[in-house]
Amino acid sequence: MRRAWKQSLDILRERIEPEDYDNFIRRLQPVAARDRNLLVEAPSRLAVDLVTERYLNVIEEVLSQTLGSPVRVLLQPPGAVQQELFPLSTAAAASAAAARTHRPSSLIPKYTFANFVIGASNQFAHAASKAVANQPGDHYNPLFIYGGVGLGKTHLVNAIGHQVLERSAERRIMYLSSESFMNELITALRRDRMDEFRGRFRRVDVLILDDVQCLAGRERTQEEFFHTFNSLYESHRQIVLTSDKFPKEIPNLEERLRNRFEWGLIADIQPPDMETRVAILQKKAEVEHIDLPHDVALFLASSIDSNVRELEGSLTRLGAFASLNKCEITVDFAQQVLQSILREKDSTVTIESIQKMVCEFFHIRPADLRSKKRTRMIAQPRQVAMYLCRRYTHASFPTIGDRFGGRDHSTVIHATQVVGERIKQDATFRATIERLERMLKSSG
Ligand code: ADP
Ligand code: MG
Repeated sequence: MRRAWKQSLDILRERIEPEDYDNFIRRLQPVAARDRNLLVEAPSRLAVDLVTERYLNVIEEVLSQTLGSPVRVLLQPPGAVQQELFPLSTAAAASAAAARTHRPSSLIPKYTFANFVIGASNQFAHAASKAVANQPGDHYNPLFIYGGVGLGKTHLVNAIGHQVLERSAERRIMYLSSESFMNELITALRRDRMDEFRGRFRRVDVLILDDVQCLAGRERTQEEFFHTFNSLYESHRQIVLTSDKFPKEIPNLEERLRNRFEWGLIADIQPPDMETRVAILQKKAEVEHIDLPHDVALFLASSIDSNVRELEGSLTRLGAFASLNKCEITVDFAQQVLQSILREKDSTVTIESIQKMVCEFFHIRPADLRSKKRTRMIAQPRQVAMYLCRRYTHASFPTIGDRFGGRDHSTVIHATQVVGERIKQDATFRATIERLERMLKSSG
């Protein structure tokens, strides 16, 4: 395993920003391995988050290729595990035995409809995806799935691909990220292979392009995609797009492309409610063979309330620690393992930090939030800030009112209702709130 790790680092060096490589990747230390899990220590908590966010996929991909079998990498901050762990050599033997070949498809195997939990937050997007999978090209073209980070967009669109293939194996599916589309385009341009590039994309029956918000400002890529889109659309081939922004919200997107994104159906995914979060955890535990008692599922679902990816990450972590320590998963154990994540979540978001962020975002002063001013320019950011305080801190309505210039608790309740309603009705406004929420989370 250590040798594979070293080899993988050499490959990763070529694929990762030199600065990030030096600061983070080079300093990762594999500390333990079991079955197909590799536990890796990162130099800091920041490194855990950054590497998970940006590089975990590529690390797993390279390492899996080097070892010839799929491996999952779990990152942890320094000193997280004191217990004695499994020596790396046993793990290497185990994973060699478990070696099996990858499916030669760009679709992600585990992202199927069967593994997708339906709840009020994603019901519509799920139904639209099913309809498209059953009759690609007939309805809803393009299907544009919109939703915040980690809410299941990539999962759903992969599920479409799998289902189309299940119904007729000879259908040509192409799934790729907008980033890859751009990279392939650049390569084709450089090698003077544009005919080949165009041919490849225009031959498919279903084209799934993930994260089209990344096309922002990429003029040449947008132009090429515009032609690809037209060619597919005219021949009734299905186009599926995802984005974390509403078409109108994607900056520097050519009007004609934006316009086409709005031709078909736009379906959104919202953060899951409590019941859906519990159901997702249970499904995931079942798939991963993790023995997850109901009270622990409830504990996790109530501690992590925004992002499914985080929710799953916490379960994976828990499962790995339990298996490494050979112990049962209890609420106490969960609390212990997830302490660092949860503590950080609690401590970084305060009424003050929200006020500061909202003020920076709307270009007003914190004193304005506490003032008596009721102009729209001030009143709206104030309501937004109150809403975020209620959602992301444990502060009560009266406390929040107090910190906004001694306002009555009923004012705060009213503000949260107004904002809540507007989020439902106004997609642009919703996108703004989601952007603020992301800023809030990444500020930690
Ligand atoms: P996005 O592309 O929107 O950022 P992903 O599709 O990558 O999010 O989802 C993040 C993780 O959460 C994935 O592992 C995915 O399987 C899981 N997930 C999200 N929504 C659901 C759901 N409704 N049921 C099961 N798993 C889900
Ligand atoms: Mg995604």
